[in-house]
Amino acid sequence: MTTRVVSFWLNPQALCFQSEQELLPVADAVVIGGRITGISTAYWLSHLGLRPVVLERGELSCGATGRNGGHFVFGTNQSFKDSVEAHGLDETLALWDFTRQSAQLLQDLTNQHNIDCDLRFNQLVSLAMTPAEAQSLQESCELMMSHGVAVKYWDKKEVEHNTQCSNFSAAALDPHHAQLWPAKLVIGLAKAAQQQQAHIQTKVEVQAVTRQAEGFTITTN
Ligand SMILES: Cc1cc2nc3c(=O)[nH]c(=O)nc-3n(C[C@H](O)[C@H](O)[C@H](O)COP(=O)(O)OP(=O)(O)OC[C@H]3O[C@@H](n4cnc5c(N)ncnc54)[C@H](O)[C@@H]3O)c2cc1C
Repeated sequence: MTTRVVSFWLNPQALCFQSEQELLPVADAVVIGGRITGISTAYWLSHLGLRPVVLERGELSCGATGRNGGHFVFGTNQSFKDSVEAHGLDETLALWDFTRQSAQLLQDLTNQHNIDCDLRFNQLVSLAMTPAEAQSLQESCELMMSHGVAVKYWDKKEVEHNTQCSNFSAAALDPHHAQLWPAKLVIGLAKAAQQQQAHIQTKVEVQAVTRQAEGFTITTN
C-alpha cells in the first residue's frame, strides 16, 4: 500500500490555491507552467496591464519549485573567480549586482503583497573539503574583496573554531545570503497575479502550440 505524505512546506498554503473554473477562449499571453518561472512571468505581465493565462498540468508549486532548498545565493553557481575567467570582470560584477537587485525586489514584493514565505537574510558558509578547494576559495575571496564584493575568508583554524569541526580546510562567508520557501512564494505571487487579472488554471496540459497568421492556438487536454 502506498501512503501519500504532503511535505509540511506545501501544506496548507500550496494546497488551498483556487484555480479558475473556466478557460478563457482568448488571452493576451499564455504562460505554460505554473511554478516559479511561470507565475513570476504572469505576475509581471499582469502588472503591466496584460491579462495572461497560466496553464499548469499539475498543481501550483510542486515539482522542482516545491521541493528545492530555498537558498537565494548571490552571484551564479560558478565561483567568482571561475565566472571572471569565463565571462570577464565587468560581466561578473554585473551578474552579482543583478542578483543583489533581485534580492531587493523579492523583499519589496513580499512586503507589498504580504507574502508569508519565511524570507530571511541569513549568512551562507561555503566549505572547502580539500586543500585544492581551499586554495580556489581563497583566490575567489581575495578577488571579490579587491572589487568590493562583501565576503569573508576563514582559514583552517578559523573554520574549525567557527564550526567546531576539524574536517574542513577553509570556508567563505557570504553575508548577504537569503532563504525562503519557494512554494509559499509562488502561491503568494499567484494570488497577487490573480488580483491583477491574471488567469491561473491548474490541471490543464498544453498538448500543442500552433502559429497562426496572428498569434497562436494552444491545444490543451
Ligand atoms: C532538490 C532541488 C534543490 C534545489 N535547490 C535550489 C536552491 O536552493 N536554490 C535555487 O535557486 N534553486 C534550487 N533548485 C532549482 C530550482 O528549484 C529550479 O531552478 C526552479 O524551481 C525551476 O522553476 P521553473 O518554474 O522554471 O520550473 P518547474 O518548477 O519545473 O516548473 C515547470 C512547470 O511547467 C509545467 N509544465 C511543463 N510542461 C507543461 C505542459 N505541456 N503543459 C502544462 N504545464 C507544463 C510543469 O508541470 C511544471 O509545473 C533546486 C532544485 C531541486 C530539484
